Amino acid sequence: MKAPVCNFCLTNSILCINDQNKLDEGKISQLDIEVSRTLYKLQKKHKAIDALNVIKAEEVDSTLLVFVNPLRPLNFNEIKAINDDLKQIFGREVRIIEQNASKSRVIQELLLPIKIVAHSSVWLPDGSQIFKITVKSSEIKGLEKLIESMKNLAKSVLKTEIFIDIT
Ligand SMILES: [Zn+2]
Repeated sequence: MKAPVCNFCLTNSILCINDQNKLDEGKISQLDIEVSRTLYKLQKKHKAIDALNVIKAEEVDSTLLVFVNPLRPLNFNEIKAINDDLKQIFGREVRIIEQNASKSRVIQELLLPIKIVAHSSVWLPDGSQIFKITVKSSEIKGLEKLIESMKNLAKSVLKTEIFIDIT
């Protein structure tokens, strides 16, 4: 696992001078450190954390977004399992997002556990583009609020209008 702070700072409750300076200069945040330390502790339970390069953590609309670059391909089950444990610890929705992934993959990571069954870009007559995703109505029962808030998150993360088609 790689993190915005060094190994010493991951395993101790104090910061080294280098990372303290980064924090003071605003290059990293307290949240980045907290999330990285938590992931570090969860490493034994989740093999996939070994393969994470943690870039930053951000709170958006009371959801904790953890941006990563994976060092190997991750599957959605692994990501969801980590999200679930982080949710328990931080007491709010948590989504691990692959910073350089395709739009459809980022949206899928936000929507977990709801599966996207199809996606496409749609050009509107005015020349703007929206991103359309399709989900099954049987999968979103009881998750209507989640899908709405994740759609708004996707909009702000990807800066794209998202249209959700329910079949
Ligand atoms: Zn350090």
